[in-house]
Amino acid sequence: MNEHLDPDTLAIRAGIERSQFNEHSEALYLTSSFVFESAAKAAARFSGAEEGNVYARFTNPTVTAMQTRLAALEGAEACVATASGMSAILSLAMALLQAGDHVVASNGLFGATQQLFGNILSKFGVETSFVPATDLEAYRGAVRPRTRLFFIETPSNPLTEVVDIAGVAAIAHEAGAILAVDNCFCTPVLQRPLQLGADVVVHSATKYLDGQGRVLGGAVAGRKAITDEVLKFLRTAGPTLSPFNAWIILKGLETLRIRMEAQSANALELARWLEAQPGVSRVYYPGLPSHPQHALAMQQQKSGGAIVSFDVEGGREAAWKVIDSTRLISITANLGDTKSTITHPASTTHGRISAEARAASGIGEGLLRIAVGLESVDDLKQDLARGLAR
Ligand SMILES: *Cc1c(COP(=O)(O)O)cnc(C)c1O
Repeated sequence: MNEHLDPDTLAIRAGIERSQFNEHSEALYLTSSFVFESAAKAAARFSGAEEGNVYARFTNPTVTAMQTRLAALEGAEACVATASGMSAILSLAMALLQAGDHVVASNGLFGATQQLFGNILSKFGVETSFVPATDLEAYRGAVRPRTRLFFIETPSNPLTEVVDIAGVAAIAHEAGAILAVDNCFCTPVLQRPLQLGADVVVHSATKYLDGQGRVLGGAVAGRKAITDEVLKFLRTAGPTLSPFNAWIILKGLETLRIRMEAQSANALELARWLEAQPGVSRVYYPGLPSHPQHALAMQQQKSGGAIVSFDVEGGREAAWKVIDSTRLISITANLGDTKSTITHPASTTHGRISAEARAASGIGEGLLRIAVGLESVDDLKQDLARGLAR
């Protein structure tokens, strides 16, 4: 597809390959395998001498369409879809790392990502140093002779710390390492890490790319030399995206920009309102001038995004009261949905982390995180005001 097309057009048109029926909407190919015209054709497909589908553990036309569209939006040479966001991160690590290698990762990563690097990959001889997300000198200081990968997530969850992508990319490249960015919170609509110097982007497509809380999915996008290695792992190990989920995500990408912009606008208004509420001691939102990395956020993101966190006075009891007083906002840890959600990180998403580690990373007992959806922002305010008044 013409790479000079606007992302708005690519989101609707990239990746379409019509079948013999000339269907208008993208077809869903629910098939696990493909037939060959002859023994010779089968051999050519298996060896890779001839391009084409073989078996859905490694390729399926619906999955390919989704990969093509997401690659176009990220400005990536190639993309490989995976069964979930976590399998995207695992597949990238398995593709790039071996025993003895070292990873530098930002603090405040998604809980399971932290566990994966800290507790699982460590069993196989891959060590990870976690550094304060916004301290560039700490990234530089953590480099070892066998540092192969830098892994960051920005804005971070749940405190919305903004990591300087270009700054970390320069340090990673100086060390001869690769920079991977988890772009789940911003999506390519608000932030394009590859243009800022990152080598590879990972996604939990479960969140904004689907956008309506229906399916799990993930992706790795970047240079073909990297995604080819990820595909080799996927082909062997099998954490592949199902065609049905790919089709949902493919259609979700069509409305991604208008959803992200509307949800971000709602989030900004809600963040401003929260900042003025008595009982709210601090609001964490990159779109607010009070955010410590507001200037950086406005440089590398198109807007503040749709995640707002805030501290309420009165610790866990007060925070739970806000949650239990809602009638509209869903009490769930999921995010990236058109439906707004609220969660208490200290007792849910970050509950498995020790209390000391949690406190050190700034996740207090009074912290609440809202993933702002598409409802009327006035109704959201009213839903929160009830609990804040108690
Ligand atoms: C949800 C999430 C993941 C993991 O994705 P799954 O699809 O749930 O496996 C990774 N990173 C971030 C930032 C997330 O929010």
